Amino acid sequence: MTNFAQVAFRDCNWCGAQLVGMNQVWSQKQVQGASKKRSWAVYSCPNCAGVTCIELRIIQPNQASPGTFSHAVEVVEIQEIPESNRSRHQIKHLPQDVEDYFSDALRIMGAGVPDGAAVQLRRTLEAAASHHDVSERNLVQSIEKLIDKGLVTRDFGEVLQHIRKIGNMGAHATDERLGEEEVERALRFTVQVLKNLFEVPGELEELKE
Ligand SMILES: [Zn+2]
Repeated sequence: MTNFAQVAFRDCNWCGAQLVGMNQVWSQKQVQGASKKRSWAVYSCPNCAGVTCIELRIIQPNQASPGTFSHAVEVVEIQEIPESNRSRHQIKHLPQDVEDYFSDALRIMGAGVPDGAAVQLRRTLEAAASHHDVSERNLVQSIEKLIDKGLVTRDFGEVLQHIRKIGNMGAHATDERLGEEEVERALRFTVQVLKNLFEVPGELEELKE
């Protein structure tokens, strides 16, 4: 719970700037639909001009009249659009070391350093493979082994080229640098591999219980 004035101080999920004072563009305590009422506020980032939309719940019912928010209204955040990288890429049942490498990768990606994020993605995948007793000479071979063992779906073989460069990152000073788009692709690949290796089996295990 917080008051409405504090909602403007937040991380920007567009550019990754942390705890910026956002400019309020619009707010409405009561947006009336056919079946329900909802409360929203819209902000723009002073750094990147990205617009963020926040859904809020008003704590005191007597404050929930139509109109714009005043600063003192107490609210709870329900959702933000766009979501943070962290919630967009949330994966369940990850072992702690894998989780740590992966959240480092997301943080470094958010800070705009794709090379650094690539190194953490490589470590994430290596740690993930070693939890399944796979630790080959290079990352691509490790993932091929996971596919052979049936732990990762065979379709990943077709997109392994996205991971080849990531596997070399940080090994030599002369490595070619990776662009944001390549690392984004490797990130999406990593998310799917982690879901295969940990989330799906973890969810199945819970279903059995
Ligand atoms: Zn921004």
